[in-house]
Amino acid sequence: MLQDKSSGATRADLARRIADARRIVVFTGAGISTESGIPDFRSPGGVWSKMQPIQFQDFVADPAMRREAWTRTFSGRAGWVGRQPNAGHAAVARLVAQGKARAVITQNVDNLHQASGIAPAQVIELHGNASYATCLDCAERHELEDLRERFLTVGQIPRCRACSGLVKTATISFGQAMPAGPMARAEAASLDCDLFLVLGSSLVVYPAAGFPLLAKRHGAALAIVNREPTDLDPYADLVLHDEIGPAMTAAVPANAPPS
Ligand code: ZN
Repeated sequence: MLQDKSSGATRADLARRIADARRIVVFTGAGISTESGIPDFRSPGGVWSKMQPIQFQDFVADPAMRREAWTRTFSGRAGWVGRQPNAGHAAVARLVAQGKARAVITQNVDNLHQASGIAPAQVIELHGNASYATCLDCAERHELEDLRERFLTVGQIPRCRACSGLVKTATISFGQAMPAGPMARAEAASLDCDLFLVLGSSLVVYPAAGFPLLAKRHGAALAIVNREPTDLDPYADLVLHDEIGPAMTAAVPANAPPS
């Protein structure tokens, strides 16, 4: 076991790390969005402790599972609907606007980084996006608003308007392969940063959790801000067990000039 030489870090230490960095990659997990009222679906009391996740193969094979999936989506039971970015998202958006952060890799599907003003091209979504749907055959994008009414009024399970293929929210489901494009972009970003900043991820879901170590092995500093200890704390150059919003607001003040 490595010694945790970084414990006792403060928000001021985090601010210094960020100020000194030139090419930051931000990696976010459920912890940044719990402050927007979105439950951490893996935690006790989270969504998956109350209802079974629907496996990708079951969604494809079974119309009843597709109906259940769309019922969950349109009932808002997953907790994503109508949520707003919080101070943590805003601080990340400032880092991107200042040019200090070029990419935000996220495990979240809530679209809140884009909602905070970051260009979609700079958000790398490892688990997809729950705020719209795509065709599983031709990848045509479908807006949830366009699918909702016919599902709720006549119970029509969404099909693709272009090819009649199956339509599913643009999330990566259990049993579905990790998306190749975002995985490749996340790897490239991890190899080209001088600070890898983890915000609100317990870093237990592989392969995504391999990116911090990849960055670290290629010379980046690793900073972790999370309420609870993570498995990678011993490898980090800075560990701050803190709330994301207040910590990042202190570290990236709203009125600071770009450095
Ligand atoms: Zn299609």
